[in-house]
Amino acid sequence: MTIKLFNTMSRKIEEVKPLIPGKMGFYSCGPTVYHYAHIGNLRHFIQNDILKRMFMENGYEVTHVMNITDVGHLTSDADSGEDKMEKGAARDNKSVWEIAKFYTEEFLKDFDDLNLIRPTYMPKATEYINEQIDLIEKLEKLGYTYEIEGDGIYYDTGKFPGYGKLTGGSLSGNRAGARVEFNDSKRNPTDFALWKFSPKNEKRQMEWDSPWGIGFPGWHTECCAMSMKLLGNHFDIHTGGEDLSRIHHNNEIAQAEPIVGAPWVSYWMHTSFLVDKSGEKMSKSSGEFMGLDAVRNRGYDTMAYKYLVLLSHFQSQLAFSWAGLESAANGYKNIVKRVAEMLSNQNKGDVDEETYKTWHDKILALVSDNMKTAEALVAVQELLRDNIINDATKLKLFEFIDRLLGLQFIDRAKKLNDLKSEEAPAEIQALALERATAKAEKNWARADELRTQIEAAGWSVIDAKEGAKLVKKA
Ligand code: AMP
Ligand code: ZN
Repeated sequence: MTIKLFNTMSRKIEEVKPLIPGKMGFYSCGPTVYHYAHIGNLRHFIQNDILKRMFMENGYEVTHVMNITDVGHLTSDADSGEDKMEKGAARDNKSVWEIAKFYTEEFLKDFDDLNLIRPTYMPKATEYINEQIDLIEKLEKLGYTYEIEGDGIYYDTGKFPGYGKLTGGSLSGNRAGARVEFNDSKRNPTDFALWKFSPKNEKRQMEWDSPWGIGFPGWHTECCAMSMKLLGNHFDIHTGGEDLSRIHHNNEIAQAEPIVGAPWVSYWMHTSFLVDKSGEKMSKSSGEFMGLDAVRNRGYDTMAYKYLVLLSHFQSQLAFSWAGLESAANGYKNIVKRVAEMLSNQNKGDVDEETYKTWHDKILALVSDNMKTAEALVAVQELLRDNIINDATKLKLFEFIDRLLGLQFIDRAKKLNDLKSEEAPAEIQALALERATAKAEKNWARADELRTQIEAAGWSVIDAKEGAKLVKKA
């Protein structure tokens, strides 16, 4: 099937042509583990998971690398300011290493809870220091670096003619953006640190020896070194949130292409932000953000949050509101209820393979067309409404839908059915017994009265051949 994706580099939707037929190598910029992940970060990881599942369903062998940023990069893009990890450690009264371990584990709990397929590799920046030093040495040999005394080794963006090409920017572009404060010692405003020296009179919790002195690598260096080590010098897709394209990813390209040639990466994909009601980007550093716990604590299934995310397109900002989540949760529950009914249907029929293929291809084509997940979910509703297709075929399609979107419809439907078949409490059973006796005595009025009482207590009586069954109402 044709796969099309919007490529940030060309600003166009392109047909995907893998470097090696049948294989797909992709790198996602992972979490910085100085705090819990917020639901905005998780939107990015949900989108990456769909991307991966879509390739898998199209028969590709996917190698997915997602890094864990456990070396503190600095709070400002100007390579100055506080170190995010050290700041997080001070806040939690723990060591940097302890918080890195703690927030990585917390992140992975959310990752698993959202039913995201674990990456093939999850390299930690602290475990790839040598590779980062190697990369800087290569750039040094090629003449792209210079030292700012007492500060660090910098990349000279003036030496790289294509600098900023991912976002169509120029060297002065970033300066005008005013996000990067101008450090007088830099040759160009967009130059960035490859290696920062530890302050002379201060011992940092995380620091390493290097050919240039004790210090720590720059953030942009980590993704570049680890992706190339694990995916090879060239690979297919690199992803990140929309905030990363302008500086982080332009800097990664500037480091990689002088070494391996252009294009380093074939396709760049960026997930748009999840924003709050006022349109503000949800961010970790603002200190006010919402994690997946907030969703759970309000009694929502985390799948409902994932369903909400998939109702929007990854290139559009998603404004989060509780009302929006409530309506997505209802939509999700309705589908689960329908699947639960199909599972308990005794006359499902036989799978009609032709119909299966038609719907499978229709839904997969939507997701393969620049990840049109919202349209795919509309098709799921159409499938449910179609009265001609039997339940056996629909259930086989739901197995596929679960593989593709990871929304766990069948799992939740089974849980719902288990809940329903829960043993009724003694008093309800007593009412059911009394009703059976009334029926045997043909006392229909009393039997109806008892049914009403049972229903009012949240149970339904289903008269089956083998006797009346009590089922908990959903
Ligand atoms: P961080 O842990 O801050 O390094 O971010 C992890 C990933 O989440 C990065 O790819 C970010 O670009 C992305 N991200 C951060 N904030 C948001 C947001 N509000 N909406 C969507 N993605 C985000
Ligand atoms: Zn990165």
